[in-house]
Amino acid sequence: MKLTFLGAAGTVTGSKHLLDCDGTRILFDCGLFQGLKKLRQRNWSPFPVDVGSIDAIVLTHAHIDHSGYLPVLVREGYSGPIYCTEATADLAAILLPDSGRIHEEDAKYANRKGFSRHAPAKPLCTEADARRTLQLLERVPFDRPFPIGGAEVRFRRAGHILGAASAAIELGGQRLLFSGDVGRQHDLLLEPPEPPMEADWIVMESTYGDRLHDTSDPLAALELVVERAIAKRGTLIIPSFAVGRAQAMLYCLYRLFQDYGTPKVPVFVDSPMSTSVTRIYRRNKFDHKLSSSECTAAFGIAQFVSSVGESKKLSANKKCKVIISASGMVTAGRVLHHLKAFLGDAANTVLLPSYQAPGTRGAALAAGADALKIHGRYFAVKAEVEKIDLFSAHADQEGLLTWLGQAPAPPRRIFLVHGEPQAADTLRVKIGERFGHEVHVPDHLETVELS
Ligand SMILES: [Zn+2]
Repeated sequence: MKLTFLGAAGTVTGSKHLLDCDGTRILFDCGLFQGLKKLRQRNWSPFPVDVGSIDAIVLTHAHIDHSGYLPVLVREGYSGPIYCTEATADLAAILLPDSGRIHEEDAKYANRKGFSRHAPAKPLCTEADARRTLQLLERVPFDRPFPIGGAEVRFRRAGHILGAASAAIELGGQRLLFSGDVGRQHDLLLEPPEPPMEADWIVMESTYGDRLHDTSDPLAALELVVERAIAKRGTLIIPSFAVGRAQAMLYCLYRLFQDYGTPKVPVFVDSPMSTSVTRIYRRNKFDHKLSSSECTAAFGIAQFVSSVGESKKLSANKKCKVIISASGMVTAGRVLHHLKAFLGDAANTVLLPSYQAPGTRGAALAAGADALKIHGRYFAVKAEVEKIDLFSAHADQEGLLTWLGQAPAPPRRIFLVHGEPQAADTLRVKIGERFGHEVHVPDHLETVELS
């Protein structure tokens, strides 16, 4: 049995791990490389194995760094099944076509500006490729084993985002476990990750392998910011990721209004994708902690803005209110228009509830920039900027060790992926110290023999 790391080795994006055993070939995750140009260029390299030789793809969750390369493989001729959980399929139906549209827009932009080396620039994949990909999704319930050739695969809850799974596989007398992205032990909306199944080999994420999260109460932190914003009678803008973060913000605001005596103000969700994902939360009610009535109550505090006209009206509305909008790192989306309208007034507040990658407008805001460039113009930042980094969807070092410590028996070897070199290496040392397991941090495109 052979395992080849085609992505997320020494980095956090591009997750792709290929398992070869007795003529069965299974790809675990099929993510896009994101971030630095050096990484993004890998998306354009020829796929290193014959696409037609892959029997099946197993998708742990819908995030683009795990799913966004699927449409490229499908365009290149992949036509086999893509197994995933129900909620992952629902989320992918929103995220993949959106990603395809962004690739098409990027190519159009490059052509307009003339900065592509290829004339005309082609998109990496298209919305149509994404829609063809969705037809290959096979929905599988958690904890129900399903066959792929001679293998048996099973999804376990990973607690990272809605539908996120670890994948356990038994093949040729050996057991492997792919952790997927591991969530936190105490999440507002999701159940903690299920303990790992017994495995000979574990391929494990290490995003925060060198870091401990602040474990302060997010509701208490949010209460301070929201009440201060409301006391100024201004607008509170919360740039939020559409998957998970927007729903967590709604739930927190609901709890503040309900249980903390925070004065109720109008709440708007102005992000079509957040609105669609919120619908998926309502539909997949066994995949999170909220009951149907809690969903109705928590998500019911908001007015969901759909048309561009309504969104413009909201930007012009100076009354005290909360706007939850995307994108989470202020790189694109409707939140840009709201920031243009509200940044210049000290009565307003911007709350950043997520990690902000270097180089994004969100990072500039978090660092205290006094002006922000949007659509080619600079806008003075007079509004108060707050940052609450308590909502990460990833386990920290202690969370990853806790999860691993719940394994019923020691694995023969652990492969650490989905982490920057320092994070993976720190976790490697910690796992050795705490459990004495053998741990390897693979290189990009490395193949290991499992026997
Ligand atoms: Zn993820």
